[in-house]
Amino acid sequence: MQDKLLIGSHVSMNKPKYFLGSVEEALSYGSTTFMFYTGAPQNSFRVPLEQCLINEGRAFMKENNIDETKIIVHAPYIINLASPKDETFEMSVRLLKTELVRTSAFGAKTLVLHPGSHVGAGLEFGIDRIAKGLDLALSEVNNDVLIALETMAGKGSEVGSRFEEIAEIISKCAHKDRLGVCLDTCHMSDSGYDIDDIDSLLNEFDRIVGINRVKCLHINDSKNVRGAKKDRHANIGYGEIGYKTLNKYVHHELFKNVSKILETPYIDDLAPYKQEIAMFKNGYVDHWIDEFKK
Ligand code: FE
Ligand code: FE
Ligand code: ZN
Repeated sequence: MQDKLLIGSHVSMNKPKYFLGSVEEALSYGSTTFMFYTGAPQNSFRVPLEQCLINEGRAFMKENNIDETKIIVHAPYIINLASPKDETFEMSVRLLKTELVRTSAFGAKTLVLHPGSHVGAGLEFGIDRIAKGLDLALSEVNNDVLIALETMAGKGSEVGSRFEEIAEIISKCAHKDRLGVCLDTCHMSDSGYDIDDIDSLLNEFDRIVGINRVKCLHINDSKNVRGAKKDRHANIGYGEIGYKTLNKYVHHELFKNVSKILETPYIDDLAPYKQEIAMFKNGYVDHWIDEFKK
């Protein structure tokens, strides 16, 4: 169990099987971990925890040797702690608190969060506001869930596309011990980092943020060239990053105990994850999508 490659994808959580269905979906792809939203990512409606078949899902994970402490929850993306609008900021803090509680109810320890967009108020404003929002939520919900700030593509006014910005948020936060980082390969490339030079990139991250902060990896190819700031994920091998580079992150020594999560697009309404995960275990298959479509 120790040396298994920790890899999976994001999966859904829908009625009628909810969390049990999420675990089943993950296993059907050959995953050893997974990521899910505890409700629709784009709204604040949340199915009560009692309805989510959590105990059934946790028992099924145990049976199948999935370490529940490695699974990842993604916070809804309507949360925007950088918003200059008070209502949005307050709603975001409220929702973040709910998500912290919900994450822990599933046995998960990591909640991935987009830092936020300052929508014109400026980077410094955004950073201060995010740190404040994190502290408001973390001081009211005291559990063992870590918030992993995701590195962003830099689309629009997104905060957190540079490691320095992530570091500044953490340094301004009073609950530093409860913060981590989620590295997204598509986003880092879109933001302008040369992610193929993995040693330099990780050294830079270590110097600025600290490599021990990495709690999750999002493994995505990118439809756009480095620096494009577009945030369009591509299937593995079908983007500008390529399998060889992505494979270095998946198998890196430093990330042995870090969950690697695919968020690549569906192909003709079908999830590509079984094939993509298999390729990270067994090697790349040229033109695999042609075969997939048959
Ligand atoms: Fe994300
Ligand atoms: Fe991501
Ligand atoms: Zn993205």
